[in-house]
Amino acid sequence: MKLNENLKQKFMEGENFPRIIAQDETKQQVKSALSVGRHIIIVGPPGIGKTTLARNVSKILPDAEVVKGCQYHCTPDNPICPECKKEVKEKETIKGEQRFIRIQGSPDLTVEDLMGDIDPTKALQYGPLSIEAFTPGKIFKANNGILFFDEINRCPEKLQNALLQVLQEGTATIGSYEIEIPANFIFIGTMNPEDYSATEQMSEVFMDRFDVVYMTHPETIDAEKQIVMERSEKIENINFPEELLAVSTLFVRRLRDNKDIEKKPSVRATIGLYERAQANAMLRGSDKVELEDIKNAVISVISHRIKLKPSVKYLQTTTEFINEELNEFLNSNEAQRLMEGKESELG
Ligand SMILES: [Zn+2]
Repeated sequence: MKLNENLKQKFMEGENFPRIIAQDETKQQVKSALSVGRHIIIVGPPGIGKTTLARNVSKILPDAEVVKGCQYHCTPDNPICPECKKEVKEKETIKGEQRFIRIQGSPDLTVEDLMGDIDPTKALQYGPLSIEAFTPGKIFKANNGILFFDEINRCPEKLQNALLQVLQEGTATIGSYEIEIPANFIFIGTMNPEDYSATEQMSEVFMDRFDVVYMTHPETIDAEKQIVMERSEKIENINFPEELLAVSTLFVRRLRDNKDIEKKPSVRATIGLYERAQANAMLRGSDKVELEDIKNAVISVISHRIKLKPSVKYLQTTTEFINEELNEFLNSNEAQRLMEGKESELG
């Protein structure tokens, strides 16, 4: 069965990525695109769980029978490398999540890293065009699975073009050789929105091969609090009062809405505040987080994670800006109500 058929079946049975908190619109788009075998690029700020979402797609793939030890990740019923075509020796069953291959996009990544390379010694021995002389690259590991390409836009154009060739024609050119790459994988790429808005480094032809799915910061304060609770380190015996978690989370969320901030703080900022406030309480010798512990963590956690608009940067340093925003926020009715433990209906 083709991969997208497997997925489609799961989606029809009601699979909805329960490990991903909220993000219903994103999940819907991902399911729709993958059901019909589209390749996707998830565009969203860092730290919101793009990798986790992609990994969860692999988790719902059924177990697969593969040829044990084959570098091309052949399946016994459809072998792609000459060795397995000759004879399948040993088989093994792997789980869906073992069919997830992650590649970190970077300017240093070469076509050879991704596609593979010709070994000169073996080329002399077997002949330059022989498959025996070829060392398969990472893309083959994604055969019959998921190729997850993080920050695809950071790759050199040459590599983007090579990937495009694989997706379009199922072949890749290594040096002067043309090799066949059966593109039987699901491609999930990611990009940061700031990079995406400046996509001149991505060619139109390249982007034309993909559907783009947008992922946002957590939609509600409750969703964000839940993510913080699930993803952060906890120090034993330190109590973090619920109302203070609400206050620190809301402060980060208000910064995201701030019109003077160009680069918004991610969920990692909220998680950072949560972790560092606990550490501050512990170092004070207390077993309970106080507002001061959060305040003392704010600059260290947030200042490098935001970028002020040029017009503001001219008047104030980032530290001054954050301190002012923090004071204003803590004096607001909204924050006061939260600290009194009153439920806020505000997102
Ligand atoms: Zn093989």
